[in-house]
Amino acid sequence: MGNKLAGKVAVITGGNSGIGLATAKLFQTEGATVVITGRRQEAVNSAVKEIEGSSIGFVSDAGNMTDIQALYENIHTKIGKIDVLFLNAGVATFGPFTSMDEATFDQMVNVNFKGLFFNVQKALPYLNEGASVVFNSSIADQKGFPATNVYAATKAAVRSLARTLAGELFEHKIRVNSIAPGPIDTPIFDKLGFPEGASGEIKEGFAKENPMKRMGTSEEIAKAALFLASDDSSYIMGIDLTVDGGMTQL
Ligand code: NAP
Repeated sequence: MGNKLAGKVAVITGGNSGIGLATAKLFQTEGATVVITGRRQEAVNSAVKEIEGSSIGFVSDAGNMTDIQALYENIHTKIGKIDVLFLNAGVATFGPFTSMDEATFDQMVNVNFKGLFFNVQKALPYLNEGASVVFNSSIADQKGFPATNVYAATKAAVRSLARTLAGELFEHKIRVNSIAPGPIDTPIFDKLGFPEGASGEIKEGFAKENPMKRMGTSEEIAKAALFLASDDSSYIMGIDLTVDGGMTQL
């Protein structure tokens, strides 16, 4: 138990799985009241149980404008103002450029970029002075991994937004940064659009290519999120904190 987020309210979108769930647990042990979102009531309920403490969950689609607007009004009514906003919800479908269809394109843009953009805009009236906004981008915003065409572009947009919003929101004393995870072992690898059972091979490939010869863990990203969310990073804004076992550097 620490106290880096004592008395703070932290909202984590996509908090019922993978990186979001690990971050919710860490923020809770650091003293925050944690609010998570997800699209499925059952998954949100079971995550809230796992997180423990005074956590609370909302079913809210991070790519749906009506849901986004309602979410921050509901949070304000039930809990109050927000100190940490970790915009983590994201979807990934990988595949060749030539066969990428419009619906898949739209879904990734809606959740990963448009939704994230409007989450910040709709949350803004409910953010406390001194709040920290953290985006979950990806090292796909820095490297041209095969078959990541649309996904990588959405993450590059997120990275760009961390810079521009850092400048725009600082007048409200709000810091904005992003985290760029390398390959992290989460359920997202079962949702990439490849045949069932292919995720093992994909993960092995990423681990082999990584200078540390392994994938990262959700907990390792959670620690980076805690750093950016807390006062430990008080003189940092507009960065894309890369946590990738050296994959973009070596
Ligand atoms: P994950 O285990 O699949 O978690 C994704 C979370 O986002 C789930 O809780 C999911 O909830 C939620 N979500 C998806 N679409 C949503 C929507 N429209 N509205 C609300 N919630 C939604 O994957 P993860 O690896 O932890 O991914 C988290 C973030 O990290 C993503 O933005 C991803 O792009 C990024 N990232 C991951 C990696 C990696 O290697 N794992 C690397 C770089 C970046 P549902 O249960 O409702 O789907």
